[in-house]
Amino acid sequence: MGHKVHSTPAEDIVAGDRSSNQCLNVNVCKASGQTADDRNDAASAIEEGLSELYVKNTIDGYVIRQWDVEHSANSNSNVLEEWANWLNNNHKPTNGTWLLVHGIAGGGSGSGWNAAVLGPSAFDQAVPATVSTTRVTNRSMFKSLALHEVLHTTIDNSDGDIKEMTEGEGNHHYLGKDFYKNGKDYRTPMSVGHGTASEKGTCSEYRALGVSYTRSPSSCTIDAVNASANNI
Ligand SMILES: [Zn+2]
Repeated sequence: MGHKVHSTPAEDIVAGDRSSNQCLNVNVCKASGQTADDRNDAASAIEEGLSELYVKNTIDGYVIRQWDVEHSANSNSNVLEEWANWLNNNHKPTNGTWLLVHGIAGGGSGSGWNAAVLGPSAFDQAVPATVSTTRVTNRSMFKSLALHEVLHTTIDNSDGDIKEMTEGEGNHHYLGKDFYKNGKDYRTPMSVGHGTASEKGTCSEYRALGVSYTRSPSSCTIDAVNASANNI
């Protein structure tokens, strides 16, 4: 028996064809000290977003796994970098997104929410990401940020169509949208926490009032994930 580094406390959430290379594998990992509710809230928000991508045939399916990991985030260092190192040293991660749900509010770069977005997408690589339960006090925003980081990991930065949608800058936040419906302003997942960024690119009408959050990806986000999946 090897050293136990993690456990799986919940059933996998599965839809579609898990053998396809256009199936997304998302691992939601609860850091030591976080609650099961934190992990469940992140997983359910991710399911909300990915189920819409699946229904629209953007991806062939998804598998969301939940883990409790024996790893604590440290506010004095880069949370994302430490998490990536921990994963490689302890778990030999398989393809997909590896999202750490942690409780660090401040500290160094990558401490709040972050994803390793500069490399290949999570369709064919293990890509670490992080989200903090305490950086924001709004629970709905936390849930949308969990989905936001997962979506970052699915987008292929080298894709020409995505660069065009984002004014050549490849900034995924320009794929988000702020919009007004039934008396409320909403932000879609890619513009959560980055409302001012969404005024650029061809995807969004920017509204400064966005205070509510939807887990429904914008059409540009869907197009970008679709283009990335087709590059696999
Ligand atoms: Zn972001």
